[in-house]
Amino acid sequence: MIEVRGLTKRYGEVLAVDDLTFAVRPGEVTGFLGPNGAGKSTTLRMVLGLDAATSGTATVGGRPYVAQPAPLRAVGALLDAGAVLPSRTARHHLLALAAGNGIPRRRVSEVLAEVGLEAVAHRRAGTFSLGMRQRLGIAGALLGDPPVLVFDEPLNGLDPEGIVWIRGLMRRMAAEGRAVLMSSHLMSEMELTAGHLIVIGRGRLIADTAMKEFIGAY
Ligand code: ADP
Ligand code: ADP
Repeated sequence: MIEVRGLTKRYGEVLAVDDLTFAVRPGEVTGFLGPNGAGKSTTLRMVLGLDAATSGTATVGGRPYVAQPAPLRAVGALLDAGAVLPSRTARHHLLALAAGNGIPRRRVSEVLAEVGLEAVAHRRAGTFSLGMRQRLGIAGALLGDPPVLVFDEPLNGLDPEGIVWIRGLMRRMAAEGRAVLMSSHLMSEMELTAGHLIVIGRGRLIADTAMKEFIGAY
């Protein structure tokens, strides 16, 4: 699971994340909701060890990752859909990621099948649609079979079929006992997916609640 305590990030004058405290538990999808600029990506990058906090702590599975990326076996992430080298084939991309993380090669075939990219695994990622790049990013997140998954705006720009597929995948991963954190700026994307909701605005916590209570509050 993910635990964030007093997490704060300042970029010069901008307080991007302001004293955030919350936990993401296994067994359900937790939605991370807030308008653009609220501090969601900055928070997720600190949790993943990709950015250093100004103060406060973030742990994944009880371990902090401070200025060192969390290993793929600890947490899988989809951050920037399609942030893969366009000249690499899908299989080559995953093989490089597996090799760099001590993950057996056979996992590459397994995750390609899991995300439905087997038939195009030999194609360069630069020829992929957004939905296919999204699937490739998710294959990378699943490669280490991690107990924690982090998806930053995973439904952005996808067609309805892709949205249904990612929703199903996130719910299945949570049902298998993983902690799944999914960010979005749209409440409508949360309602069908998340069992728990963390809402932030201007870097601060606004709500941390079971989804059914939040919806019932209207
Ligand atoms: P969200 O993901 O919720 O849209 P972000 O975490 O991307 O929000 O951004 C939160 C705030 O931090 C915004 O005001 C943004 O402009 C600022 N910010 C994010 N990254 C940087 C950076 N590298 N340098 C300066 N300001 C940044
Ligand atoms: P390579 O240079 O071997 O292709 P990458 O640049 O693709 O490696 O990735 C470098 C590191 O970034 C990985 O070892 C891993 O720690 C992290 N990383 C890449 N993709 C993911 C992902 N989907 N989830 C979590 N971490 C990732």
